[in-house]
Amino acid sequence: MDTHAFANDPDQIVEADRAHVWHHLSQHKPYETIDPRIIVEGKGMRVWDIKGKEHLDAVSGGVWTVNVGYGRERIANAVGAQLTKMCFFGGTLGTIPGAQFSEMLIDKMPGLDRVYYANSGSEANEKAFKMVRQISHKHYGGKKNKILYRERDYHGTTISALSAGGQDERNAQYGPFTPGFVRVPHCLEYRSQDGSVGEEYGAKAAQAIEDVILAEGPDTIGALCLEPITAGGGIIVPPKGYWDRVQEICKKYDILLHIDEVVCGLGRTGTWFGYQQFGVQPDIVTMAKGVASGYAAISCCVTTNAVFEMFKDDTDHLSYFRDISTFGGCTAGPAAAIENMKIIEEEDLRGNSTRMGEHLQNNLLGLMEKHRWIGDVRGMGLFAGAELVTDRDSKDPVNEKQVAAIVADCMQQGIIIGATNRSLPGYNNTLLFAPPLIATKDDLDQITDAVDQAITRVLG
Ligand code: PLP
Repeated sequence: MDTHAFANDPDQIVEADRAHVWHHLSQHKPYETIDPRIIVEGKGMRVWDIKGKEHLDAVSGGVWTVNVGYGRERIANAVGAQLTKMCFFGGTLGTIPGAQFSEMLIDKMPGLDRVYYANSGSEANEKAFKMVRQISHKHYGGKKNKILYRERDYHGTTISALSAGGQDERNAQYGPFTPGFVRVPHCLEYRSQDGSVGEEYGAKAAQAIEDVILAEGPDTIGALCLEPITAGGGIIVPPKGYWDRVQEICKKYDILLHIDEVVCGLGRTGTWFGYQQFGVQPDIVTMAKGVASGYAAISCCVTTNAVFEMFKDDTDHLSYFRDISTFGGCTAGPAAAIENMKIIEEEDLRGNSTRMGEHLQNNLLGLMEKHRWIGDVRGMGLFAGAELVTDRDSKDPVNEKQVAAIVADCMQQGIIIGATNRSLPGYNNTLLFAPPLIATKDDLDQITDAVDQAITRVLG
């Protein structure tokens, strides 16, 4: 086959995709009659599909990843130069970009010390779970091995990451799961059961974690794994005081605090990491998506020195962290991550996220005044959600077809927005916004104008 001709023939590419690609998170039945959408090019906040249509991207590559925006030649060039010089060496040996990026990263994370490289968010979380399990064997006779996770949080797609998954739609039909994961309640104030709000609600949600710890037995719990702000489970910003109490509880019962920064990391909320908004000090932090903004695959599991030291003991041949990630040794990831971090710093994208985040929140609150369907607006920095309900008293979620129709209407208008998981009642009703951190007021106005029109058309 003439590959050049193939590359220039959009219909042939669409057919190849339809025939052979199994898309992520997709029911393929509709592709029998509609074309799969293929993205071919991006610049800044905009992407173009294979039919030539321009889209404004309000979700940073669909899954909140491309923090610095599209078309950054300097990242591509750094990766190209690094791959030409030294593409890969894995196993026990180090690489120059691996060392350099770890130093840059630790500089942004006071109190943390060691970077373990992997490829995806799920994998970084698996590394953390394995560390916790091994610590339990090495230091607690195998007993302190349970890992607590929270309803509505998500930590990845592998079986053990799903075992820590608080979104039932993602878990259904994939069991049996890994034992030793225990669920604690969510902290979504909007859905407070007893009417408590603010700090009172936050204290109760944190108390619910302590209650689970006491019921399970504190000497059986090794770690608590939480997202700083729940992402796919509905953009849930915990109320003031919640995180302080969580930290106290972890200290009280000698439980490692593992914070999953796969979404919130690298400037998304306006600070380098989401946990830094709340003044907490984690023992383990995992990150992926924004680390290299999607220009290369990289994830990190970062720990304190105290955690690291627990594995530094050569008296026992099983005592070191006996884990490997073949492509966690690829140099493209840290080479891209170095440039990505420099761009965030030089262009003050954290500051832009804070400033533009306020604009986005104000726009969404404006829509809330206009549309009775919007029950709640939440978020921090360029990370926001608008929860849709049939009426504000009952807070019953609008149905998933209506949410999908709003997202599709925006797509038709050339604006890509997101929504939380589709088929689980109570989860499927939050519109989701996480644009690249370069967004301007004008971009955000275009996004919320499209949502305004879509809500009117779909819900009235
Ligand atoms: N953790 C969180 C909070 C996520 O949102 C995701 C993915 O969306 C993951 C972990 C898993 O990351 P990955 O898809 O790179 O495995």
